[in-house]
Formats: sequence, C-alpha cells, structure tokens
Amino acid sequence: MKDAQCKKCLQKFHQKDIYTIQQFQYRKTPPYQWTIDYFAKLHITEWDSFCESCILEYQKESADHFQKT
Ligand SMILES: [Zn+2]
Repeated sequence: MKDAQCKKCLQKFHQKDIYTIQQFQYRKTPPYQWTIDYFAKLHITEWDSFCESCILEYQKESADHFQKT
C-alpha cells in the first residue's frame, strides 16, 4: 500500500521508500547544522517525508547554495 506522501511533489509512495533530510548528516559538506538551518527557512523539518527524486533535488540545491555562501 502506498501510504506515504512526498511533501514536495505530493506523490504517494511506499513507506519504506521515504527519505528525509536526516540522511544529509552523512555528507561531508555542508555541515549538518547548516543543512538544518537551510531547510528550516524552507519550512522543512527532519521529520518531513520526501520521495527519492525530490530528496536528490534538495541535496543538489542545498549543496549549490552552500557553495555560493
Ligand atoms: Zn517528491
């Protein structure tokens, strides 16, 4: 059953395929605290669910933004 929903694209998907920004704590840059603050401005918390393509998009977006600051 597809009972999870992506907060960004609103697509429904399986619970086991949920991604959250918590996975960004494993990347070297930007630092995780920076990541938390960045997404807080977009009204995204560590508990929001996203599908794979949206989390990849956010991953790229935030890394690009970090490079420029
Ligand atoms: Zn999505």
